[in-house]
Amino acid sequence: MPWNPIIKSRRDWDVIPNLHDYDTVRRGFSWDRARAELDGLPAGQGLNIAHEAVTRHAAGPLAQRTAIRWLGKSGTVDDYSYRRLDELTNRFANVLQALGVAKGDRVYALTGRIPELYITALGTLKHRAIFCPLFSAFGPEPIRARLAIGQAKVLVTTASLYQRKVAAIREALPHLEQVLLIGDEQPTPPRTGTANFHQLLEQASGHYRIGATDSEDPALLHFTSGTTGTPKGALHVHGAVVAHHITGKLALDFHPDDIFWCTADPGWVTGTSYGIIAPLTNGLTSIVDEAEFDAERWYGILQNQGVTVWYTAPTAIRMMMKVGLPLVRQYRLGKLRFLASVGEPLNPEAVVWGEQAFGRPFHDNWWQTETGGIMIANYAAMDVRPGSMGRPLPGIEAAIVRRSDSGEVEPITEPGQQGELALRPGWPSMFRGYWHEPERYKKCFAGGWYLTGDVAKQDKDGYFWFVGRADDVIKTSGHLIGPFEVESVLIEHKAVAEAAVIGKPDPVAMELVKAFVSLKDGYEPNDALKRELLGFARARLGAVVAPKEIAFLPTLPKTRSGKIMRRLLKARELGLPEGDTSTLESGA
Ligand code: AMP
Repeated sequence: MPWNPIIKSRRDWDVIPNLHDYDTVRRGFSWDRARAELDGLPAGQGLNIAHEAVTRHAAGPLAQRTAIRWLGKSGTVDDYSYRRLDELTNRFANVLQALGVAKGDRVYALTGRIPELYITALGTLKHRAIFCPLFSAFGPEPIRARLAIGQAKVLVTTASLYQRKVAAIREALPHLEQVLLIGDEQPTPPRTGTANFHQLLEQASGHYRIGATDSEDPALLHFTSGTTGTPKGALHVHGAVVAHHITGKLALDFHPDDIFWCTADPGWVTGTSYGIIAPLTNGLTSIVDEAEFDAERWYGILQNQGVTVWYTAPTAIRMMMKVGLPLVRQYRLGKLRFLASVGEPLNPEAVVWGEQAFGRPFHDNWWQTETGGIMIANYAAMDVRPGSMGRPLPGIEAAIVRRSDSGEVEPITEPGQQGELALRPGWPSMFRGYWHEPERYKKCFAGGWYLTGDVAKQDKDGYFWFVGRADDVIKTSGHLIGPFEVESVLIEHKAVAEAAVIGKPDPVAMELVKAFVSLKDGYEPNDALKRELLGFARARLGAVVAPKEIAFLPTLPKTRSGKIMRRLLKARELGLPEGDTSTLESGA
């Protein structure tokens, strides 16, 4: 385990951390008590995420408080009070009602970080349809695959994204009945099943009564990637809001007056659980910035908006570190109280850099799409061990386990031993299935544990340390990329016989998507073809998913049963030992 100086928790608190005594809070914790912090729908009609996030505050003392402060790319600032957000999301719920959208139907959003995205998410949850966000930088192929798997009924997007990414694939999506376009341009020629988002919103009533919602009713569908097969749709239920709410309080140390900024895009789970739900259930003001990363802009937001709690990601922190300390020192950031990071391993240097730049360390925490909320964290009142993900939240039991050849799972009790990170099922935001893939879901559980697919260690004091992924998925700038999805697009190119995709280490993005391809007879490896393939993949997959590098190989290494050995390609790329190659086909 790497040795790093421990950063002692500050004791000069302006506000007492919610989890000021980890062991006591953990001992006294129960999910029922956490649930009791929420209201529930009137007359015992159940638990609905949007009611907890918006409606209850709109009817109470927080009605006029800013729920979301939206910062547009070009300088616009638009404040949405809890009351205004409630009315707009009521309108959207009524729009869905009028379109014939039923409980459990899937409503997708494909937009940047604009107010309409937040209105769509919360209005959909009020209507008890299932909200599914898509990342706007996806190309047409990842968009098509995700819309098709979840059988989207409604898609909310902008007119420009529609023309660039959806129009051409629409005929392949028979379930997609309605596309609601944000913006004035509408498709030419007009197409049935396409309407103007704002016109519909204006015509709808601002009153809506949320129907009875069982805490097990499905609410959110988040796509994630595996090593093989299509993207997986992790399904979460309305009851997850208990975990969103309480983890916001305990892991991110939310206090009532906080101004919170989560920099993640709602196209990924962090941007929904903590970019939409948790700050609102806790009655905070949440900052939403439409623009992409820019160090000056970000420091300006932290300073001018008086951000107190900031949740960001290692890639962004590494980019700030590259820009250096002189810039950050030009800003007055004294209001910042708590800094947290998620999505990839946070280098110890980055934790320490937080202290130099902001006077506070970054607090790393760990979770994944399937867990729906933060599971392991460094807390405000806990000493930070740079490089460690921290300790499990109250209510969460985590362990390092070993799987035997016969499939048995047993916890490793000896500290420092590497194994798979496992969680005891039962927390409210645990996913309830992969959309229409019960077998894939079942495989995630064994011996009474949920197996996360991450390899980690636990030290003698109970801190968890990330080691790596147990599979071949790639983490680039905090985004999980399934190699199979990339390979499938590459082999659609007429010159490509086979493709294998790996994550190549990168100092800022952690990994870059790198592809190896072998060519069909009659094609020559050369730079022109390389550029063509890179462009081909980018047009279909979009910038985040497409490979950044391509290398040609005469053949790809395969097992005797014909599976491409990505692991071997990676070892060769890194100049590492090739490990067990006994199943390698000869000659590869
Ligand atoms: P996603 O489902 O896209 O949120 O990705 C989840 C995966 O990101 C986890 O299974 C880990 O592999 C990785 N991850 C998330 N947070 C951390 C962290 N704090 N340290 C190391 N890896 C992380």
